[in-house]
Amino acid sequence: MFHKLFKFLSKFFLFCLLTLTTQIGGIIYLIIQLIIKNDTQKYLFKKVVLFIMIYSFATFLLIPYLAPMFGREKIQDTTQIQAHSFLTKLFNRNYVNPKLHITLKEIANSLKSYNPEIKLVYLDANFPFIDGFPLAPHLSHKDGKKIDVSFVYQDKNQIVTNQKLSNSGYGVFEQPLDQKYNQSLICKEKGYWQYNFTRYFTFGKINKHLFFSEKATKKLLLAIINQKQVHKIFIEPHLKNRLHLQSSKIRFHGCQAVRHDDHIHFQIN
Ligand SMILES: [Zn+2]
Repeated sequence: MFHKLFKFLSKFFLFCLLTLTTQIGGIIYLIIQLIIKNDTQKYLFKKVVLFIMIYSFATFLLIPYLAPMFGREKIQDTTQIQAHSFLTKLFNRNYVNPKLHITLKEIANSLKSYNPEIKLVYLDANFPFIDGFPLAPHLSHKDGKKIDVSFVYQDKNQIVTNQKLSNSGYGVFEQPLDQKYNQSLICKEKGYWQYNFTRYFTFGKINKHLFFSEKATKKLLLAIINQKQVHKIFIEPHLKNRLHLQSSKIRFHGCQAVRHDDHIHFQIN
């Protein structure tokens, strides 16, 4: 009895985990449970192999063609636009609506005219299907209109690079220059414990020799601001001040979100 319950709960947990991280993984997992019965020889091995085959086929060949029927497009990686992590693509977290797709290309072009070496590097966008289905843990990324992009960094000789500071692209914060200012403490005191939470999701810090590039990140932010369709941008207020940005599109996201001095979030109408 206990054994059966444990088995059911672990299957349920796996289904939820796959659905939350990849949207389609949970359903594929269920289909495989139906196809391969547990009394077949080497059933576990067969299940894993079949899962990898169907999942890869769906992710790379099928969904890019299906998503447009649901109003989403896979972000096309070009010489100017790229995902920071392959996992973003493997987990189907690289879908946007057609309007945001055009906006991304415009931003990348404008970066190129400033410095052809700088690419628009994106992090989590949206899943391919269903408005209202959030891309965990970003609850607002649920309609194809939102995306996170990386800051730009440079080395000690001020040469800009497309490399970032963590494997996930999140969690390495650009601390306020003014130490008196401490948004995360303010939020923590208000009871919002999750504000700093992304620091546990770096999946490894990398490129420790790099620094935040004020100049290039400002150019990137201006390119985003200048897009008519973009109506909201989230970065920490201390960065807005430091980069001397005036736009009313840049808002403080509030303590209920996570801190935004490790990446830029923006959204279109
Ligand atoms: Zn976001």
